[in-house]
Amino acid sequence: MRIGAVEAGGTKMVLAVADEKMNILKRETIPTLMPSETMEAMIRFFQAHPVDALGVGSFGPLDLNPASETYGYITKTPKLAWCDYPLLPRFREALGVPCLMDTDVNAAALCEAEMGAAKGLKNCVYVTVGTGIGAGVYCEGNLVHGLMHPEWGHMLLAPRADDPMKEGVCPYHKGCLEGLASGPAIERRWGVKGKDLPPDHPAWELEAHYLAQLCVTALMTISPEKIILGGGVMGQSHLFPMIHKETERLLGGYLSCVKDVSSLIVPPSCYPDSGLIGSLLLAKKAWEANQ
Ligand code: ADP
Ligand code: ZN
Repeated sequence: MRIGAVEAGGTKMVLAVADEKMNILKRETIPTLMPSETMEAMIRFFQAHPVDALGVGSFGPLDLNPASETYGYITKTPKLAWCDYPLLPRFREALGVPCLMDTDVNAAALCEAEMGAAKGLKNCVYVTVGTGIGAGVYCEGNLVHGLMHPEWGHMLLAPRADDPMKEGVCPYHKGCLEGLASGPAIERRWGVKGKDLPPDHPAWELEAHYLAQLCVTALMTISPEKIILGGGVMGQSHLFPMIHKETERLLGGYLSCVKDVSSLIVPPSCYPDSGLIGSLLLAKKAWEANQ
């Protein structure tokens, strides 16, 4: 059996073919251009490397309601050319194999839960802190969908009074998590890219504060057994101990079951392939559902 995966991002599409043991046999990255040409290139790849099932982990927002007429569409994305694009239906029509789609971050959460940092656990959240902020939520052994899918990047935070940036960068909410703590928020606030700020810059203490607010909210809502933080900004690994300390401070001794924050809030084990491997796991699920 061969399974295929697409990790669909706003700047690039990562494609892979693997065997049933998840060994990646072929992998290709293509730029995300206009939908018609990008789709054609992706379909050509899977025609050259046929698969028995396909999993797609995509940037969102997505319509993931199987009862909806636009199931499997990318919906109102700021990447305007891809607005209302029937990504999953196009793959289904072209390849004629079972296909399953989820958000890129839900796919990453699935990967980490099945074979990574949260292996053996039934509850975890995967958060990517990059150009945007997104979270995949895995609860009681299932990826969470519902009215739509989790959109934690737009979780409202309490801006800190000493934050030098007067307004967050999210065009919808200003002071949401993405508006205050994404890569572009760091760049807007300090006038330089995060990767060019030294570890002792005050940027990181403020960043850790906002990410700790996220962690506390996560703990108080879905009670994850692991909070996995990935994405470009988390390449600043010195953020982890700062987030641990600040999360403990904000918890204020509540949640006595939390004994060791440093083993609760961790980097992904499969980064940067969590989303791609999670998409392969979605393909496996699609295949199994058709047996
Ligand atoms: P994307 O979210 O676009 O898929 P990334 O997860 O790499 O991609 O996130 C890109 C964002 O993260 C940019 O805003 C970039 O400035 C920031 N970033 C990337 N690498 C680092 C780093 N080492 N330290 C701090 N910020 C970084
Ligand atoms: Zn927002």
